Amino acid sequence: MSSNFVDVLVIGGGVIGLAIAKNFAAKGLEVIVLEKENTFGSVTSSRNSGVIHAGVYYDKDSMKAKFCADGNRRMYEYCQKFNVPHINTGKFIVATSSNEIPKLEEIFSKAEYNGVEGIERVTGNYVTSKEPLVECIEALFVPSSGIVDQNSLMRSYLGELEESSGNIVFNSQFLRSEIHGEKYCSTVLSDGEEIIIESSVIINAAGLNAENIANNILPLDKKYIPKTYFAKGNYFETGKDLKIRHLIYPIPNDASLGLHLGLDLGMQVRFGPDVEWVDEIDYEVNEDRQVLFHNDVIKYIPSIKIEDLKAGYSGVRPKLKNKGEGKSDFSIQGEKTHGIKNLVNLFGMESPGLTSSLVIGDYVTNMVS
Ligand SMILES: Cc1cc2nc3c(=O)[nH]c(=O)nc-3n(C[C@H](O)[C@H](O)[C@H](O)COP(=O)(O)OP(=O)(O)OC[C@H]3O[C@@H](n4cnc5c(N)ncnc54)[C@H](O)[C@@H]3O)c2cc1C
Repeated sequence: MSSNFVDVLVIGGGVIGLAIAKNFAAKGLEVIVLEKENTFGSVTSSRNSGVIHAGVYYDKDSMKAKFCADGNRRMYEYCQKFNVPHINTGKFIVATSSNEIPKLEEIFSKAEYNGVEGIERVTGNYVTSKEPLVECIEALFVPSSGIVDQNSLMRSYLGELEESSGNIVFNSQFLRSEIHGEKYCSTVLSDGEEIIIESSVIINAAGLNAENIANNILPLDKKYIPKTYFAKGNYFETGKDLKIRHLIYPIPNDASLGLHLGLDLGMQVRFGPDVEWVDEIDYEVNEDRQVLFHNDVIKYIPSIKIEDLKAGYSGVRPKLKNKGEGKSDFSIQGEKTHGIKNLVNLFGMESPGLTSSLVIGDYVTNMVS
């Protein structure tokens, strides 16, 4: 078994692991990102809606609320600076019945508290004047929402990492780690061979697998490791440009932002994600959900036909609360929480993790001495 030493070992080459890694590398530290797949960001970071969220929905003073509004501004600046393809589409959150109006008001006041800029209440007629296919009775217009090409974003983070002499190693699965004195001694299965990597710092940014990773870092007390539940989100795609130019969101529920209308950078329309609680991770989209999708979507686009909706892709949210238990926040734990120096675990990194990635990168770098 060979052994290598680095300052910082980041487990997981998704958008969050890369955002953290590039920051450490920019400080002149030696950084390695371990990625068990054969490329970066192929798990949740490319199985999402690609939305630059504004920060509208999140509970006051939650990490999600704090990170998202700032993350939104930072994301636009970053995309402009590094030429990452993105579009500031804006979005409408639509109420389609009068009993949804109190919820719309609640979202409006949360958004203002969270520092979301430029949000406005608008009439249903105004929405239809901008988006003729959409019907609703009232809506919120959120100008700062948009979309980003996740893959280009991650490639840009990786480019920054490599320019600062950091590295990512693919096909390399973290197995376990123990502290020896001031150093972590980690065992990694790399291209079928077990190797040892020693590091001063470990960052567990393994997304859906973060709980499992934390269970294999000694001597972390198990009481600090939250259980992760899996909430799959399925998408149905139209494969068409329906001439819709804004994102359209219904009123959210506790587990998701609702079956919304999303756009890719080519303006093709898709719907989702829904919420399907699962015990095992698989990414197949069940065609039978087409009816459920259609029933929801016709509430705000009455003209959409069921045959326009084709099973697309899916992603899985790592949730820290189970079905019916309410909303969960990000949980980012460092020494102050678990008492172990230079170890940061990131749990429950669901939406708006993509939007918040730059801010999370700074937050985590500052947690480590
Ligand atoms: C359906 C859905 C829609 C979403 N939509 C949005 C959105 O529109 N906007 C937004 O801001 N956010 C959105 N999100 C959230 C966003 O996608 C995530 O917050 C973000 O991608 C999480 O990034 P990550 O790096 O933590 O995880 P991941 O992308 O999952 O990366 C973790 C990496 O760790 C690797 N790994 C795991 N175990 C090991 C191991 N043992 N050794 C080495 N590597 C390992 C994995 O292979 C993976 O590549 C959405 C999420 C979902 C599920």
